Amino acid sequence: AALYKVDGWGAPYFTVNSTGNISVRSYGNDTLPHQEIDLLKVVKKASDPKSTGGLGLQLPLIVRFPDVLRNRLESLQSAFDLAVQSQGYDAHYQGVYPVKCNQDRYVVEDIVKFGSSFRFGLEAGSKPELLLAMSCLCNGSPEGLLICNGFKDAEYISLALMARKLSLNTVIVLEQEEEVDLVIDISKKLAVRPVIGVRAKLRTKHSGHFGSTSGEKGKFGLNTTQILRVVKKLQHSGMLDCLQLLHFHIGSQIPTTALLADGVGEASQIYCELVRLGACMKVIDIGGGLGIDYDGSRSPDSDVSVGYTVQEYASAVVQAVKFVCDRKAVKHPVIVSESGRAIVSHHSILIFEAVSASSYESPQVSSLGLQYLVDRLGEEAFSDYRNLCSAAVRGENETCLLYADQLKQRCVEQFKEGSLDMEQLAAVDGLCDIVSKAVGVTDPVRTYHVNLSVFTSIPDFWGIGQLFPIVPIHRLDEKPGARGILSDLTCDSDGKIDKFIGGESSLPLHELEGDGNGGRKYYLGMFLGGAYEEALGGVHNLFGGPSVIRVSQSDGPHSFAVTRAVPGPSCGDVLRVMQHEPELMFETLKHRAEEFMHETDDENGNAIDSLASRLAHSFHNMPYLTVSSPCCSL
Ligand code: PLP
Repeated sequence: AALYKVDGWGAPYFTVNSTGNISVRSYGNDTLPHQEIDLLKVVKKASDPKSTGGLGLQLPLIVRFPDVLRNRLESLQSAFDLAVQSQGYDAHYQGVYPVKCNQDRYVVEDIVKFGSSFRFGLEAGSKPELLLAMSCLCNGSPEGLLICNGFKDAEYISLALMARKLSLNTVIVLEQEEEVDLVIDISKKLAVRPVIGVRAKLRTKHSGHFGSTSGEKGKFGLNTTQILRVVKKLQHSGMLDCLQLLHFHIGSQIPTTALLADGVGEASQIYCELVRLGACMKVIDIGGGLGIDYDGSRSPDSDVSVGYTVQEYASAVVQAVKFVCDRKAVKHPVIVSESGRAIVSHHSILIFEAVSASSYESPQVSSLGLQYLVDRLGEEAFSDYRNLCSAAVRGENETCLLYADQLKQRCVEQFKEGSLDMEQLAAVDGLCDIVSKAVGVTDPVRTYHVNLSVFTSIPDFWGIGQLFPIVPIHRLDEKPGARGILSDLTCDSDGKIDKFIGGESSLPLHELEGDGNGGRKYYLGMFLGGAYEEALGGVHNLFGGPSVIRVSQSDGPHSFAVTRAVPGPSCGDVLRVMQHEPELMFETLKHRAEEFMHETDDENGNAIDSLASRLAHSFHNMPYLTVSSPCCSL
């Protein structure tokens, strides 16, 4: 556990159990005690068709734990409740979940269900997100907010106004100045009194990658002059009372509570100014940004960690709003936050398998092969060879390496000229490898090939270099014998993971046992990736998304129950995404078979049928490697 810093990034949800497997502390509801679920058992159940009740799902696999999701929501709410209570704040906190972080139906439905007792709502940033938020919130708390962010056209605004007609607690947040004209116009036409928010572009700037949305030059929001113009326009139209919410977003992964308090303080001043100007202000929406400690370091100096707890975050927000409002004698507003990352990251784990690893066995070089090489060396290469031998006799390691390197370069030149053949080039590689090993400078880092697409499942690693904890989910009671980087299935040199938490350029990994055909399987988990990764992933090389299961705590023999299992998209499904028609493709290939193959081509005399069934199988299977069924014992 210490090697992979599980206690740092994993607490309180992930730990290593006595059998060396990762277990998930999936805080149950009131009727169940907190139990630990062995992740390997879950993966076995999901993927092994031979295990009792095995589901036969193909990997990669996302395992979701709704109980963890519920605990995240409840922890956030209770952190704010405590801050409100202990600081004597005169209004409450209610959160909204920005659906862009993970729009999966069951994730959103769970959030609405778990949060309905404390007015939890949703935030949408586009028309389809608004539609899904509208329908999900029909089953949520009547007070839960529906915050409408993002660029808006007339259709978006009409939809948001319809949501108000449906008695959903909808707020249209102006992100562009022009949107106010549309809102005034359309709400009059539809005879709906809107609730309007305004997104302020704060001067407070958060540095680093996630800060690009903040500061005066940030992409979103209205500057001071624009806010003043909006107030005038609303006043003119007799709608200033509709302006009730102030929103801002400093950026994701806010590194410190000092920066947070600075931004919230600035926004609170704007809030108080809007009160002074006559708006009927009620809510301050502090956006997202509650950070995740991906590397367990608790350090604010990197993009992958933050220097505060959820409780410290909540206390800093409440204190900053209260301080400003008290000085201006303004009634405390309801505090809303749009935390995404902090809500959905933990509950979802991506499981994938290492299918092979490069070995660093030296190329073999026989004495005969070496002699043949030496005979063909040019004058300079021969002199390098002689110098290498004498340095070896004298035990001069540095000199050995120097001459070995020089010899290799000259041999490559000779190969290019055509005076050395491939066997000799291989012999020089072997010789140099022996020298490196003898002087102890072999590169011990191996490449583990994983059944995964980085572009589909960890796009933020590829796109912005974001690091996630990656850990074998079993064998953690064995000392790893190797270090490795991970190479994915795509035909793309970016499809590899060679940076890991803690600034490491390789990961401690165990030797693979067997060749994957009946050998013991080796499963790795990528943790804390429940936010953004699924929503951003693409179909590079036409690898689709993973299979997904939903696992709840239960009082059954395994302490868990699979409550939903969905196989990942098949080859046919991903082809359809790019407008191909798998049914038509199948027919085309079958006709081709009828044209070019003879019925008797195979031993059973039904070549065309057998080809057709193989083709059908390929269309139906997932695009990932089909690794033969596991036989690892639990
Ligand atoms: N709200 C807005 C307006 C955002 O732009 C974002 C993310 O960028 C969020 C909320 C969610 O932020 P986070 O996931 O950091 O909580």
